Amino acid sequence: MRLIRLSKSCIGDLEKEAVVSVLSKEFLGMGEETKKFEDNLSEFFGKQVVCVNTGTSALQLALQAIGIGVGDEVLVPSLTYVASFQAISATGAIPIPCDVSLDTCNIYIDDLERRYTSKTKAIMPVHYSGDPCELDSLFEFAKEKKIRIIEDAAHAFGSLYKGKKIGSFGDIACFSFDGIKNITSGEGGCIVSEDKNVIEKVKDLRLLAVQKDSENRYLGKRTWDFDVIEQGWRYHMSNINASLGLVQLSRFAGFSKKRQILGKLYDQNLLGIDQVTTFKRDYDNITPHIYVVRLDKSVDRERLRGKLLSDGIQTGVHYQPNHLLTYYMNQTTLPLPNTELLHSQILTLPLHPDLTEEDIVDVVNSIKKHI
Ligand SMILES: *Cc1c(COP(=O)(O)O)cnc(C)c1O
Repeated sequence: MRLIRLSKSCIGDLEKEAVVSVLSKEFLGMGEETKKFEDNLSEFFGKQVVCVNTGTSALQLALQAIGIGVGDEVLVPSLTYVASFQAISATGAIPIPCDVSLDTCNIYIDDLERRYTSKTKAIMPVHYSGDPCELDSLFEFAKEKKIRIIEDAAHAFGSLYKGKKIGSFGDIACFSFDGIKNITSGEGGCIVSEDKNVIEKVKDLRLLAVQKDSENRYLGKRTWDFDVIEQGWRYHMSNINASLGLVQLSRFAGFSKKRQILGKLYDQNLLGIDQVTTFKRDYDNITPHIYVVRLDKSVDRERLRGKLLSDGIQTGVHYQPNHLLTYYMNQTTLPLPNTELLHSQILTLPLHPDLTEEDIVDVVNSIKKHI
């Protein structure tokens, strides 16, 4: 039976050729390709870009670069991948779980304001499914409190907010290029910022904090005489990963268009099913990373997921709230009713550029049959 995967990498001959060509050069580490990928991403965003080995390390390094550490608090939605939380706690800071809006699954300002304390040093909004948060109000609040904003833009590569690409404005934005994101470099991520200090700092931090090592690596050299003044990490991106990312970036317009078409098609086809509510997303301006619906409380989600899987359709639940995880449990003071309600009702349907319009119709028909 055919399996409709929830998400997957979409890899063609160009990606394979690019990787093989790096292998043939026998220079696998960070070098020319990494530099080129950064340059092309810089062009894409109109801002400086530093590539690293994962989206999670991009977030961690961005936090470290602005001096976030032990005792500091960072406001973050609870309804996110545990990567956002782990990146914060890796610095010694405390992730403060915030509630999300029922309409968008994004962090919202009223709840966030209630959780602000004198220890709050940053906000990490997550653009859930690729739909941008209300950044204007967030930036206004951050400015008033003199705190920083690090966007977890892992879902939002290519999405527009008021006509501008996520990452092309603002403070610091971090992207992920893991296997299933809007573009992939196998594993990878990047930090985008206008802040020169942040850019210079993360360039060092990703290479064990060896000062000014990046420029040498780009030239295929190493730094033999150097100093280190703080804790760094081995988080750089290899030429293999970058070569893959370069091809994916060149294919992005096509990927984006396809994701938008499939999102709209789901919306139209799900209209007639009473127990399924779609989220209002503006697919002309965002590149959806996941397609999530909300089920009526009468629906037994796990039973439905089992039935869909028996029809060869994988589904997911994005995400388990972080404030309910053992490691982060005691960081909660105020309740998070929307997060908990959404978690019990959300269902993620398959979305990736290799799906066909018939696949979407099949998924919807299977839901109709089993709900
Ligand atoms: C994928 C993802 C990350 C982390 O990216 P990796 O590259 O997998 O480390 C962070 N936050 C969110 C919301 C994600 O979906």
